[in-house]
Amino acid sequence: MASNLSTPQVEAVIFDWAGTTVDFGCCAPAAVFIEVFKRKGVEVTLKQARGPMGMHKRDHIRILTQLDPVAEQWTAKYGARPTEEDVEAMFTEFVPLQVAAIASHADIISGAVETIAALRDRGLKIGSTTGYNAEMMAVLVPLATASGYSPDCMVCVSDVPQGRPAPDMALEAMKRLGIGDPACCVKVGDTVADIHEGLNAKMWSIGVVDHGNEVGLSRAEFDATPAPRLAERRKIAQRRLANAGAHYVANTIRDTPTCIDTINKRLATGERP
Ligand SMILES: [Mg+2]
Repeated sequence: MASNLSTPQVEAVIFDWAGTTVDFGCCAPAAVFIEVFKRKGVEVTLKQARGPMGMHKRDHIRILTQLDPVAEQWTAKYGARPTEEDVEAMFTEFVPLQVAAIASHADIISGAVETIAALRDRGLKIGSTTGYNAEMMAVLVPLATASGYSPDCMVCVSDVPQGRPAPDMALEAMKRLGIGDPACCVKVGDTVADIHEGLNAKMWSIGVVDHGNEVGLSRAEFDATPAPRLAERRKIAQRRLANAGAHYVANTIRDTPTCIDTINKRLATGERP
């Protein structure tokens, strides 16, 4: 397409980490949330544990403590509902467990390296944001780099005042990439919190499902799931991200360049996210 200096085009793509570019199924955090509650004698289901995924892990723990079935178990055991001190104590326990889990869930999602190379070939910058903190990313970043994935910038939740769904990380990534207009940025992620982060930053928001938290299957589980069951899970995940306001919901990260083509056409007609 002939480019016109006055026509805005996508200049940067900001990817989430777990479930989007690494850790097929976003399995590392899900298991650790269950474990920290188990250590308190409280059962959290996998579905409950995955619900607030993408947020600051402390906020995520707080939301889990507020779920009725969790608060009821807690009250039965400790005689009162969980307090902010309990949330803080569990977060303190969460961090080293999460750091340990990340090392064994640092696999790059298939198609991510090739897709990002193709986007860079178009002259696009690659940013990243994550609900992991600096201590967790200190483990993940070198492993991802060694496997061929290295975004132009990485903003983690401990770098900004507020985690998702606030736009702070996406806007900080935009700033570090030197982009002036959020409408020229696309945020890609696998959770409702990711979609909201992009929308709150006034960026285009794309959801990915097959390798993300909403389908919630490890690569081995995904491969072993019969097609009709997979289609059903995909549909539920697509609906959840679409309902969150995603401009597009793609099956995998490989589909993002096609979505960006369409976004460029929408930008050319004067539309903004
Ligand atoms: Mg994610």
